[in-house]
Order: sequence, then C-alpha cells, then structure tokens
Amino acid sequence: MQQLLKSIQEIEKLGNYPRIDTIESSLGPKVKIDGEDYYLFSSNGYLGLSTHPQCKVAAIKAIEKYGTGSGASRVVSGTYDIHTELENEIADFKGKESAMVLTSGYSANVSLIPVLANSFSIFGKKPDFKTMIFSDEYNHASIIDGIKLSGSAVAIYPHRNMGVLEKMLQKHNSYRKLIITDSIFSMDGDIAPLDKLVELKKKYNAMLLIDEAHATGVIGKNGKGVANYFNVTDDVDIIMGTFSKALGSIGAYVASTAKIIKLLKVAVRGYVFSTALPPSDLAVSREAIKILKDNPELGNELQKKSSFLRESLNQMGFSTLGSQTQIIPILIGDTMMALQFQSELRKRKIIAPCIQWPAVPRDKSRIRFSVMLTHSKEDIEYLINSCQKIKDDLHI
Ligand code: PMP
Repeated sequence: MQQLLKSIQEIEKLGNYPRIDTIESSLGPKVKIDGEDYYLFSSNGYLGLSTHPQCKVAAIKAIEKYGTGSGASRVVSGTYDIHTELENEIADFKGKESAMVLTSGYSANVSLIPVLANSFSIFGKKPDFKTMIFSDEYNHASIIDGIKLSGSAVAIYPHRNMGVLEKMLQKHNSYRKLIITDSIFSMDGDIAPLDKLVELKKKYNAMLLIDEAHATGVIGKNGKGVANYFNVTDDVDIIMGTFSKALGSIGAYVASTAKIIKLLKVAVRGYVFSTALPPSDLAVSREAIKILKDNPELGNELQKKSSFLRESLNQMGFSTLGSQTQIIPILIGDTMMALQFQSELRKRKIIAPCIQWPAVPRDKSRIRFSVMLTHSKEDIEYLINSCQKIKDDLHI
C-alpha cells in the first residue's frame, strides 16, 4: 500500500497526471466541457457514426426488442441472433470465411495472441513447438500485453523496417513464427507495408496477424481496411479490428478461416470468460457496416480532409512523422514543450492530446490530431491557424 501511494505522489509531482474532461454533449466535431464549446481533435470516432441518426435508431430498436444487457458469456448462456448476424456480416465485409465478436480490442488482443502462439496449450497440453513472435516496435499496448501473456519468445523489429525483420526471420527460422502488426499505427498514423509483410510471411512460412482498429471504416474499398487496400486479404491469416473507432460502437472482431474461428471460440479467454456485448452495441455495429456499404465515399472524404490538414502543417514546418491517414501527429520532441503546446491549444478551445512516454519514445513527445468526417473546412482551418500562432509564440 505504502509503495502504491508513493508512486501516485511521484506521478503527481511530475505534474502530468492526465486531466480527464467531463463531456456534457454528444461527440460531435465540437463538444461541451464546463458549459463551453471545444473543437474535438482527439476522438477515434473518425466517421462521426456514434451520433449518426441510423445508428441511434438501431440501438433504440435493439433495446426495445432484447433489453439492455446480455447476461453472461455466450458459451454459458447462448447467443443472440444479432451476435451471429454481426459475425457473418463482418466476416463478409473483411473478405474472410468466418469471424467472432469480442467485447473490446484490448481483451481481443490480450487473449487472442496467447492462443495463436501456443495453440492447444490452453487445454493443459504443452505445445510440442516453440513460437517466436515478430512484433513492430510501435504496436499497440494490447498487442504488447498479449505477447507478454503468451510467454513466447519475441523479436521486436524497428518500426516498419522490413530489412531488419527479414534478418530476424532468417536468424530464428527454426521457430514456429507469428508476425504481428497494427495496420494503421495509432500514434503515428502511418500504414504497415502489408505487401512486403505478406512476401516475408510466405518466404519464411510465418503466420500474420494484423490489427485494423484504426483502419476499419477509413481506408480500402468501402472502408474495408489496409489488407483490402493492398489486396492481400487472402494472405493475412488473422485480421482483428474494432467497432469502437470509425464504426461508432464498441467491441472487436477477429476474422479468419472457419476452422481457426472454431478453435478461437473455445480457446480465447476474453471470449469464453467475459459477458457478451449488449444487443444495442451489436445493432450499432451492424448499422455502421451497412452505412459503409451504402456510402463507399466516406473513407475517401475523410482522407481528403486529413491530407488538407497534414499538408498545411507540413508547409508550416511541422514534422507529421510518417502520417498517411486521419491520425496526424506533430512532433514536438521535448515533453514539457509538448505539454505547453497542448495547453495553448486548450486556451484556444481545441482538445488534442499530448502523447508522451510510455506511449511513444521519450524524445518523441507529440500532439496528435485525429480528423473526423464531421469536421468542417472552417474547423480545420481554425486548427491550422491556431497551430501557426502557437508555433510562433513558443518559438518552435
Ligand atoms: N488496437 C489498437 C491499434 C488500438 O489503438 C486500440 C485502442 N486504442 C485497441 C487495439 C484496443 O481497442 P479497444 O479500445 O476496443 O479496447
């Protein structure tokens, strides 16, 4: 207890204990905080679907039909028909044979990776093979935690560096191999080179798992993701992603062959031992997929707005790192300066997070902007002008 209290004192002394705003409105391009309007450039709700009229109606109808909760794990208490329907629809959307739905992206990665690494060891049998996991250094925390929980050997390759990954694959060729990557990286907004990753996975007989959390809904045909964008869906063994970001809902999916999903549905602990998603969330996810199918232009429109912001920031002399998408960081470097930049933005009624260690390396503190389809050109121009003024004032 004493040690715990000491840690919190230390965090507070550093002065960067995260401030959590209370939002008093819906998640539009502007939100109300303490009665005042703020421009929201921090949400992963990229398409604004959490406030879309069709999604709201779908949630209400599902509550009227099924009630609010799901009561137990599906393995224990059965499944709603809409669980299965959503699984069929997301499998079809992602171009895979079968899919399963879980309660969050975090729990999906944490409980999926140990199964992929160790297979049936979950039933008490020791695997007769050793797996080495090859993980991009910027993969999301849920992937890192899943790898730790798997107990497998791990080789972390420098961000998107296919040359080093190949050397690692050669060196550890005697292992059973699993490569894991985000498809759009959450802190840098760049895209994993899936074409190269597929070449390597084939050459070295590895499995490939990708996390499309930030890609679902925003890139590829109808927002089908980066695997679709590179036309390599059949060659990616397992695709996971979330309903919680562009799709305006909550939960995660894992899509693969029917046989793999059959195994995962008895082996993934986050599925077996966790209460299933409530019907309203499933209904919103289904409606969001329908909206994407009916409106193929949404992802492109989002990317056009994002390019406008990114190019303007670049012209001002900011580094946006490798961003190619709706996630646009500006590199500040020093953490104190980045925190100051964040608070200057806030004075101008703009919410955008300062991302610092441990989410990114210590010398790569940054402000991260997330563009939403619901941002108007004027909203984005206001952000651009504000960045220019802050840059001048802070002599960056
Ligand atoms: N994977 C990635 C790449 C993420 O960015 C996140 C959340 N930020 C997750 C997984 C976890 O998803 P969820 O929020 O649904 O738990």
